[in-house]
Amino acid sequence: MTIEFPLVINGHWREGSSKRSEDVLNPATGEVIGRVAHATSVDLDEALDGAADGLVEWQAVVPWQRGGILKNAADRLRSDIESIARTITKEQGKPIAEAKAEVIRSAEFLEWGGEQARRIADRSLRGRDGRNRIEIETHPIGVVAAFTPWNFPMALAAKKFAGALGAGCSIICKPSEETPGSVLAMAKALLAAGVPSKAISIVFGKPDEISNYLIPAPAVAKITFTGSIPVGKQLAAAAGRVMKPVTMELGGHAPAIVCGDVDPEKAADVLAKAKFANAGQICLSPTRFFVEENISQRFTARMIEHAKSWKMGDGMDPDSQMGPLANERRVQAMDRLVDDARRRGATIAVGGQRIGNRGFFYAPTVMINVPESAEILHSEPFGPIVPILPFADEEDMLRQANGLEFGLSAYVFTNDAMRQRRLKDALHFGTVGVNEFVTHLPEVPLGGWKESGFGTEGGLEILAPYQKTKFVSVW
Ligand code: NAD
Repeated sequence: MTIEFPLVINGHWREGSSKRSEDVLNPATGEVIGRVAHATSVDLDEALDGAADGLVEWQAVVPWQRGGILKNAADRLRSDIESIARTITKEQGKPIAEAKAEVIRSAEFLEWGGEQARRIADRSLRGRDGRNRIEIETHPIGVVAAFTPWNFPMALAAKKFAGALGAGCSIICKPSEETPGSVLAMAKALLAAGVPSKAISIVFGKPDEISNYLIPAPAVAKITFTGSIPVGKQLAAAAGRVMKPVTMELGGHAPAIVCGDVDPEKAADVLAKAKFANAGQICLSPTRFFVEENISQRFTARMIEHAKSWKMGDGMDPDSQMGPLANERRVQAMDRLVDDARRRGATIAVGGQRIGNRGFFYAPTVMINVPESAEILHSEPFGPIVPILPFADEEDMLRQANGLEFGLSAYVFTNDAMRQRRLKDALHFGTVGVNEFVTHLPEVPLGGWKESGFGTEGGLEILAPYQKTKFVSVW
C-alpha cells in the first residue's frame, strides 16, 4: 500500500511501525486522495530520542546561521507555491488564491523567526558591589511538542516552527491528520535548507494518544497547541501535571460592532469578505454582528445580497469565492446551530442548508431575530453563518459582546474617533480591528484573552515562548 502522507522521523519518511493509516479526503468531493500514516509509541520514542539529539545539534548552530537556514526554507516554500497551494486546497477546501496567500504567509513567518534568531542577545549587568558581573543568558527551552489544526494547516504550523527553530529548539509536530500535506512540504523545505534531520519530526495518529504520550515524555520541555478551547484545556491540564509551559492559541467568537454613522453597505462588503474567507473557519472570523438599529436594515439587505451571490465551488476553480467546509463534522455543526436558532425563533433570511450531495458545501447563511439564548451566540460557529443583532443601547450591546469566555478578536466600525476609542477600550479581546478585518502578520504578537488562549505567537517576541534564561553571577 502506498502511503502518500508518511511520518517524518529523524530524516526518514516512512510508515508507522504498526502500518496503521487513515484516509485523507478532498472536502470538495468527499473522495479519498491518499492515506496518512499513524505513529505508535515505538515511532514516538524514536522521534523523542532523535529530538533530544537534534536539540544538541541545532542549538550549536549559531543564531546567525539559523536565521539564514530559515530564510532559505522560506524561499523554497515561495518557489514551490503552486504545488503546495494545490495540496492545501485539495485537503482543506479553501479557494486556491487563499491557499497561495497561506503559503506566502507561512514563508513570511519562517523568515521572521530567522530574522529574530539573528537578534538573540544575552545581557550583562554590573553587580551591586561594583565587582561582580551578572549575566543573563538566553537558551532554547528544549524539545517542543506542537499540535496544529486543519483550518490553516501550513501557516499555523509555520508560526510554531518559526519560533521554536529560531530559538534553537527541536520540534515534534502533530499536524491534523485531515490536512497532512502542507506541513510535510514545510518539513521538506526546512530539511533541504539545512535544519538537521533530528531537529524536526512530523507524526500523525490518534490525536489524544499522541498528545497523552508526548506531553509527559521527559524529553519534551514545551507544549504548543492551536485548536479549540476544550482540547486546549485538556492539553494544558496534562502539561500542568508535569509542570511544562504551554502556548495555547484557541477559539474565538468575535463581535463585529457596526455603528450607525458608517456606510452600512461598505461595512457589509468588508465583513462579508471577512466572514466567508476560508468558509468562516478562521479563529479571527467575525461571528456576532451587532449593528446599530438605524442602519441594520440596509446592512442586512446587503449581507443577504452577498450571501445569495457568493460564488461557491471547488477551491481549485479560480472563480470560486468560497470552498466547502473542511469536513463532515463542520456541516453537521452548521445544521445543529441553524436548527437550534430556528427552534428558538430566529429567521433564516438566506442559506441555512447543505449544498449538493457531494463534498461538504454549506450555503452562506444570514440569520435575523436571533434570541440571546441561541447556541450560535455562545459556541464558536467556525462556518459561514452571519447572525445579525441590531442594537440601540451601547452598554447592553457591550455586555453581550464581552459576555462570553472568548477573548480572541473583535471589530468596530465607526468614523467617530471618540467612539472608536471608547469601544476599543471597552472590548476585552486580544485583537481589535477598527474599520477593517485583521489577519495574523508575523510582526504582530497575537494571542487570546480569557479562555481564548495563553501566550502569544509572532511579533518581536516570537522566540520568547521557546526560550528560557539562566542568571549567572560571576565574581
Ligand atoms: P477538535 O477540537 O477535536 O480538533 C481541533 C484540532 O485539535 C485538530 O487538528 C485535532 O487533530 C487536534 N486535537 C484534537 N484533540 C486532540 C488531542 N487530544 N491532542 C492533540 N490534538 C488534538 O475538533 P475539530 O472538529 O477538528 O474542530 C472543532 C472546533 O475546533 C472548531 O469548531 C473550532 O472552534 C476549533 N478550531 C479552532 C482553531 C483555531 O485556529 N483556533 C482551529 C481548528 C479548530
